[in-house]
Amino acid sequence: MSMITRIAELIREHDDYTVIAHIAPDGDTICSCMALKLGLEQIGKKAQVVCDNRVPPMFAFLEESYFVKTMPDVKRTESCIAVDCADRLRMGTCAKLFDAASFTVCLDHHGTNIGFGDLFCVDTTAAATGEIVYLLFKEMGVDIDSDIARYLYCAIIADSGQFAYSNTTPRTMRIAADLLETGIDGNELHTKLYSSDPVSKLRIKARAINNLQLFADGKIAVTVITQRDILAAGASNEDTEGIAEMLRGIDTVELSAVIKEQRDGAFKVSMRSQNIGNVAAIARKFGGGGHERAAGYTIARPLTYCLNTLTDELLRELDV
Ligand code: 5GP
Ligand code: MN
Repeated sequence: MSMITRIAELIREHDDYTVIAHIAPDGDTICSCMALKLGLEQIGKKAQVVCDNRVPPMFAFLEESYFVKTMPDVKRTESCIAVDCADRLRMGTCAKLFDAASFTVCLDHHGTNIGFGDLFCVDTTAAATGEIVYLLFKEMGVDIDSDIARYLYCAIIADSGQFAYSNTTPRTMRIAADLLETGIDGNELHTKLYSSDPVSKLRIKARAINNLQLFADGKIAVTVITQRDILAAGASNEDTEGIAEMLRGIDTVELSAVIKEQRDGAFKVSMRSQNIGNVAAIARKFGGGGHERAAGYTIARPLTYCLNTLTDELLRELDV
């Protein structure tokens, strides 16, 4: 029996769920969680979605995102599902709920995930965890109606770069086609998520381009965004999403990275690779994780240390 079949069976035997998104939530984790909540409720279960951080405003048009809870408002439940979390730490303080639950499941697609929880499905061939939720719903007999499809479609376009990244497979496209068949407006979702940027996001991009450093004949691009940059651009931390991809889009670049100063003074590093270099391997060295082509970590050290160690690792990865 496949793991997804086993998970589908056991989910039916439990009633009260907490669905946990990862910290610094992205479209895949938020939308996969919302889809799971709707699917669980459809088969008569109780479900709440929790996240250690607030849901970024770009998801506000997805109505149910208002119901995502943060830790102080959360009641404990017997069952927890971690969604798109490569390790326990990615749940932030919500890990407490997971550890206290009597039935725990992990649904994820990160290569650095060694598996945790009573049952786990880590499918690294899935472009998004949303793909795994789709397959799980098929096993569970959940009717993927247009409300659920909207969320799964958003989860998939978020992590596949709107079907442009190398993680997009024929299966990704087939699932997306099936979701569109429910009557959802794909163009509306692409536009709301990726062509509705506040001007502050463009201003922070401009600052990131200003701070750009190129190494190794332009094969490596690194930039730094400080809290001062964010303030001066009138931007929020979420507005820094997508900058690593933008740098990878430079014709000479194989490896790109953005060092983002957090409000607490730590630095969050986002890395992307084009055709060569495994950025998940670098992330792992610093206690983070992710995928071969997209990974990250957070480091509470001075900026010069962060920049030097990062560029050393990127240069080494280029030579591998
Ligand atoms: P981003 O750079 O967009 O924040 O993240 C890229 C990918 O790496 C995502 O799949 C994300 O889940 C993963 N990732 C980012 N930061 C971390 C981290 O600190 N730990 C782990 N395990 N994964 C991370
Ligand atoms: Mn994901």
